[in-house]
Amino acid sequence: MREIKYISNIDRLDGIPESEKASLKEVTQQYIFRSNNYYLSLIDWTDPSDPIRRLIIPDPKELDDWGYIDPSMEDQYTVLPGLQHKYDSTALLLVSKVCGGICRYCFRKRLFLGRQSDILRDFPAALGYIQSHKEITNVLLTGGDPLMLSTGKLERFIKALFAVDHIRIVRIGTKLLSFNPFRVTRDPSLLEMIKRFNEMGRKIYIVTHFSHVREFTPEAARAVALLQSVGAVLINQCPLIRGVNDNPEQLAELFRALAFAGVPPYYVFQCRPAIGNRTYAVPIEEGYEIFEKAKAMVSGLAKRARFVMSHATGKLEIVGKTEELMFFKYHRAARNEDSGRFLIMVRNPQAYWFDDYEQIVDEYPLAWPQGALGGLDSAVLS
Ligand code: SF4
Repeated sequence: MREIKYISNIDRLDGIPESEKASLKEVTQQYIFRSNNYYLSLIDWTDPSDPIRRLIIPDPKELDDWGYIDPSMEDQYTVLPGLQHKYDSTALLLVSKVCGGICRYCFRKRLFLGRQSDILRDFPAALGYIQSHKEITNVLLTGGDPLMLSTGKLERFIKALFAVDHIRIVRIGTKLLSFNPFRVTRDPSLLEMIKRFNEMGRKIYIVTHFSHVREFTPEAARAVALLQSVGAVLINQCPLIRGVNDNPEQLAELFRALAFAGVPPYYVFQCRPAIGNRTYAVPIEEGYEIFEKAKAMVSGLAKRARFVMSHATGKLEIVGKTEELMFFKYHRAARNEDSGRFLIMVRNPQAYWFDDYEQIVDEYPLAWPQGALGGLDSAVLS
């Protein structure tokens, strides 16, 4: 592909019948559309259920009244504009307000709705905060998509962060390897920058966002290999999305492709209840079954992902279920005392979020108190 051209006008999509465009345009008045000629070329327009189409083309059901503007309550952990500090060791910098495409299920739609207060404004102030919080060892650059910035600008952020003694890892959360892998394959300066930091002993993790194996094109695979060749560590995370990857075979295929490329699946997220997301969300218990079935089809290396929910109180891992009960564990917790806490809830097949579980059966801290197993037994049997 010679040139990447961004497309934000539904009228320019030849694969969509004219009769459908009016309703899609109505959606884009609320939630913008953005893609490019490369990503759109991956769509099989003869298949109305094509997963790539589902991921990027608006759906009239997005206008259903559902969800929250800030479902994980990121606002609560925003210590300065564009700087979030929820977990002790990790800080998030929202360095970009644009993405290579707009995922229809985006959980940060608020960034595209004109709410700019979440974007980094004063980097020196944010850096000062990070310098004074020695417990922070990791900084995640996110947004929006940090790879939408020029390499020069990205390097200024990373250089300043690595100049802080206690910052050992900078993560770049990006979907550009799916939306536009040419961002990597055509920019040698990006690779040289990562190599320089790697040689200094500072690791750059690239957190990719492949949601379906069809995004893993030969060009995407080349981008992955180039990044790995200069010492970047790649891991993948994606949400479980209705019509995109809500199928054990497809999810397993994605896990396999990632593992074969040396990109461990890291997290599979429960789709957040963000505004417009009703049509994309899969109930937690159904999602858990899909996830477990997918894992059963792949090797240990391909099933390293955890199925988690980025809840306001922490990252809750969905760890199991019985006929009547659901089991959750805080993989990361906003309050340190919740770390590892185990929660047993009465099942609710209609639950899309932790708050939909009303009845708590029991909860234990990580260090299980004496007799806790007895409590568990009786909870299971009751
Ligand atoms: S890449 Fe991330 S921030 Fe950008 S639209 Fe997709 S989910 Fe939202």
